[in-house]
Amino acid sequence: MRDVNVSIFPGVAQALAGISFRHAPDETGGVLVGTRSFQDDVLEYNILGVLGVADFDEFKDIYTATPTSFVCNDRLGWANLALKAVETFGMSYIGDWHSHPRCSLTTLSSQDISFIAEQFMLGQFRPYPPLHVLLSWSAKTPAVNISANIMLGKYIAVIKPQILGN
Ligand SMILES: [Zn+2]
Repeated sequence: MRDVNVSIFPGVAQALAGISFRHAPDETGGVLVGTRSFQDDVLEYNILGVLGVADFDEFKDIYTATPTSFVCNDRLGWANLALKAVETFGMSYIGDWHSHPRCSLTTLSSQDISFIAEQFMLGQFRPYPPLHVLLSWSAKTPAVNISANIMLGKYIAVIKPQILGN
């Protein structure tokens, strides 16, 4: 693979931050929809819509969230959340996201990595690799950091998404 590009709608970046701030100090997360392509050896993602699991009462039992962890404990429930996003936006389910509020950890934790490694092994997004967006901000400043993490098997590509329109 020659390159990996990730773009995000400005409204989606804002929505991710809004959802994360609203549920802080706990971590939170959800699903991403949009488009993907693999052409001329370049893998490209456009993140065009987002849902937060904590915004829906019907999904409150499918995850556990604390200030230092966010874990999905019901894969079928998570698939239903993804289906809701697909129906809401009329676009494909392309990946997941979660937050690290007031935390200096701007990279995935080992628990986060084992979650996307499992998605890779299960081929959940085949023929595309799993995309995982992490939104974090430190205790000192509310400025958010957004990274796109793409599990490519032996390693994870970490990319700063381009804001579309900029
Ligand atoms: Zn995490």
